[in-house]
Amino acid sequence: MALIVAKFGGTSVADTARIETAAAKVLREVERGNKVVVVVSAMAGVTNQLVGYCDSISKMYDLREYDAVVSSGEQITAGLMAMALQKIGVQARSWLGWQVPIRTDNVHGKARIEDIDVTELRKRLDSGEVAVVPGFQGVTDRNRISTLGRGGSDTTGVALAAALKADRCDIYTDVNGVYTTDPRIVEKARKIDRISYEEMMEMASLGSKVLQIRSVEIAMNSNVPVQVLSSFEDAIGSDLPGTLVTREEDIMEKEIVSGVACSRDEAKITVLDVPDKPGLAARIFGPLAAAAINIDMIVQNVSSDGKHTDITFTVSRRESTRALEVIGNLEEFKGAGVLTADNVAKISVVGVGMVSHHGVASTMFKTLADKGINIQVISTSEIKISVLIDEQYAELAVRALHEAYGLSKKAA
Ligand code: ADP
Ligand code: ASP
Ligand code: MG
Repeated sequence: MALIVAKFGGTSVADTARIETAAAKVLREVERGNKVVVVVSAMAGVTNQLVGYCDSISKMYDLREYDAVVSSGEQITAGLMAMALQKIGVQARSWLGWQVPIRTDNVHGKARIEDIDVTELRKRLDSGEVAVVPGFQGVTDRNRISTLGRGGSDTTGVALAAALKADRCDIYTDVNGVYTTDPRIVEKARKIDRISYEEMMEMASLGSKVLQIRSVEIAMNSNVPVQVLSSFEDAIGSDLPGTLVTREEDIMEKEIVSGVACSRDEAKITVLDVPDKPGLAARIFGPLAAAAINIDMIVQNVSSDGKHTDITFTVSRRESTRALEVIGNLEEFKGAGVLTADNVAKISVVGVGMVSHHGVASTMFKTLADKGINIQVISTSEIKISVLIDEQYAELAVRALHEAYGLSKKAA
């Protein structure tokens, strides 16, 4: 008997028929003697619609109210899922974020889970009940609803699995595993059987939205095995049909490059002609950090006159308006030119084997050069290389790199 958290994403609960299909999978787990906590996303498209409502009122809406609005999608599916389970004879009850409670910090719009009190859930599970928890939402210490950032239901699933010391967290979605790159972009992408937490974390943070990055971070820290699998196929989680995200030690074959990721959620900001003196970066990035804006890639250009320089960095597209406002309010940069570009994409190659192999970067640069694609910014870590390019070449770049590193499926 195992304790399993089963998370169903938006397309897996897109309508009531899909919810009933998901419920039938939960029943099969229960029939095998497993205890199950179900985590649900909002129905496909609903969160986007709710975000659209907020945007149409104001681009600078109050994030506490944004959370009140966008968390509602998951509430609907949680109730419907509990009903669908009851209909097929499974004792089930829904638990909203505040009812569990799932406590988060106060960073509305992208809150982090701080603590989950599982006392009551555990009692219910022990009495044979299935608990249904809406993903994406929590409650702050000021008693307000918070949300965990787009894709955050994965994080609810894994955090609950960690808090309950579950045997596994199954992430049901619309693809049957993690692929070498987004299978919707590259048809020849290959399914990976096992991937390390480290690689999955890079893939997720670099734009492979199959798992939210924070969910992988929690899984790694708590050693929760996570399986990505399809809710559109017949197998259930306990058959282990998907991709297992696990410890590097548990993976026999280590690839030099495991995958190629692409993120279009990028905006490039350049602050021109800033004084080239110590403390400059701190004076720009300090206030941005205080405004909870994440900076990703950074380049500071060489100063041609020794006095002034340009500094370029990237932020998430959704945050670029806020970032510009923060910079505009900085006294010493008043009057500095600021350039912004939304038409950029970040392309990355990831692999734990990179640590001990050279030539990975040069292959990347040569492949892009051969296609005539200009690199605007580069950033690297031990197990990844990322480049920022013009968005119109994103798919071309992903396909070319996928081929260059030999990741494509062999022709049948
Ligand atoms: P859900 O609604 O179930 O949370 P998401 O849309 O968030 O699903 O994530 C699943 C999608 O992730 C897939 O449809 C696929 O297009 C995309 N994806 C991006 N990169 C990858 C990858 N490397 N492997 C598998 N899927 C990927
Ligand atoms: N519904 C939320 C979103 O679309 C959370 C999730 O589905 O993971 O971002
Ligand atoms: Mg998702």
